[in-house]
Amino acid sequence: MKNSLKEIATGFNSLLTGMRITIGQFFKPTVTVQYPHESLKMPERFRGHIELVRDSETGKALCFACRLCERACPSDCITVDGAKLDGAKKKSVTHYMLDFTKCSLCGSCVEACRDGAIRYSHAYNLASTNKEDYVMDLFKRLEDERLAAIARGEIIPTPAPVVASASAPATGVVGQASSPAGSPGVPPGVAPSVGAAPKPLQPEAPKPAETQPASPAAPK
Ligand code: SF4
Ligand code: SF4
Repeated sequence: MKNSLKEIATGFNSLLTGMRITIGQFFKPTVTVQYPHESLKMPERFRGHIELVRDSETGKALCFACRLCERACPSDCITVDGAKLDGAKKKSVTHYMLDFTKCSLCGSCVEACRDGAIRYSHAYNLASTNKEDYVMDLFKRLEDERLAAIARGEIIPTPAPVVASASAPATGVVGQASSPAGSPGVPPGVAPSVGAAPKPLQPEAPKPAETQPASPAAPK
């Protein structure tokens, strides 16, 4: 009898404890995320796949195709190409591919880039059954973002650049389809060229008449 009463008291106490916890949680804010209809905001230091950093004013890539990140990658994930614009001192990136299927998120590429032209994205919702979805054209992504920002009026469009013929890529039409100005042979997303407008020809200054040296006096 005594044991039975003790068990009833213990069970009732357990019930009250459980109810107290349940009622306490009932009035707290909901923390469940209704994935995939909702997504979490990733913390600042989250490491997603790398992405190109854009200039806040022009929206164009900061990358100048030095290829340090390509060489630093131990898994050969990165392919970079660039072109030097007419009158520009540095190259501008025209092609930046990432094969995320091979990436280990080691961070060597981000560390190798001394100019902060690449960073980790906060993308984590990358589920796909297609392997090709993980081969990413980062330059095209950035260019699409730039065009969208121009459409929203966040960026003022800049004149189409001109690629210097000597250092232009073999095709000369990289990214031509998405070029805002539609100029053939002009890669989009590259810095504006100083020499975008044709330079007027400078007339050559007339050469001064050549003076003939005095002929030596004939021996007498
Ligand atoms: S994080 Fe590492 S593996 Fe991935 S692209 Fe960069 S260097 Fe290559
Ligand atoms: S991302 Fe940085 S290291 Fe890589 S090519 Fe561009 S400037 Fe060079």
